[in-house]
Amino acid sequence: MDSEYDVVIVGGGPAGLAAGLYATRARLKTLLIERGVPGGQIAVTEMVENYPGIEEILGPELGDKMLRHAEKFDLESQYIEVESADLNSKTKVLTTRHGEINAKVLIIASGAEHRKLEVPGEEELSGKGVSYCAVCDGAFFRDKDLIVVGGGDAAVEEGSFLTRFASNVTIVHRRDELRAGKILQERAFKNPKLDFIYSHVVESINGNGVVGSATLRNVKTNELVEKPVDGVFIYVGLTPNNEFLENALPLDDQGHIHVNLKMETRIPGVYAVGDIRQESSRQVVAAAGDGATAAIFAERYIAENFSE
Ligand code: NAP
Repeated sequence: MDSEYDVVIVGGGPAGLAAGLYATRARLKTLLIERGVPGGQIAVTEMVENYPGIEEILGPELGDKMLRHAEKFDLESQYIEVESADLNSKTKVLTTRHGEINAKVLIIASGAEHRKLEVPGEEELSGKGVSYCAVCDGAFFRDKDLIVVGGGDAAVEEGSFLTRFASNVTIVHRRDELRAGKILQERAFKNPKLDFIYSHVVESINGNGVVGSATLRNVKTNELVEKPVDGVFIYVGLTPNNEFLENALPLDDQGHIHVNLKMETRIPGVYAVGDIRQESSRQVVAAAGDGATAAIFAERYIAENFSE
């Protein structure tokens, strides 16, 4: 297997796929490494309806289109986990279980995944009623009662999606107003199958083998209430996928990577794009823009630093 590339991109979400498109169109020998399925978070999003020019498209379909588009220009892909990165030399070295891969430029597009609630019962009942993916698991909850935890876009959008299957979905949010965008809120408030419990947090998820209830605490009065439910979907934000970067690159307190307007990190030849970078707006179109920007400046970096 080839192990020498101009550009290696870690992560196959919209940021990585856009970087792949631009890098291959610049005729750079480019490898994209993805540990899961291409598309990143949109691969587990029902519908994308805010990508300019495309009024609505299924998330996995958009991911697939982005991959095929870049492959048309010879993007190579490997589906494997990057275990570590050595960024000390001019050539960057990534280690996978199949060996080392060398790159003139590394574009980090490893994104973020759903944060855990870290309450009793969450881990034990994961896959047994506790889920982080409505698109993957929603259909298992036909005519059931669910709660969705969180108050952001993901909680409201995915909560609304779950009403297609469930008889009732209650969004449990820790504050007394939602954080989600206004359009999503307006739609959600009109949905007869969606209820809202504000100012409550989940203290524990309970059940013998499968979820049977959740204990909620009123954050104002500390009063506890046990709510019978068949499933708990957790959407309380995202946490960056940075495990392979330990000691390789400075990260901020939240584990994001600092970049400048060219998407350059503090290490020459290393770029970070999408949800792994600081101050990401976490939108598909912005991630794609990051990827394009990084690839354009990566091409210039290679021309200036590796010309024979
Ligand atoms: P988010 O916007 O960071 O919202 C996280 C929510 O979880 C907030 O309401 C937060 O409460 C709550 N929360 C955090 N920790 C909690 C805890 N321990 N217990 C209870 N509640 C907790 O995250 P998101 O909704 O996952 O969205 C992430 C990004 O993706 C956003 O920028 C969003 O615009 C974008 N996005 C996602 C989708 C989608 O996934 N379907 C769609 C469009 C856009 P507070 O409000 O009190 O902080």
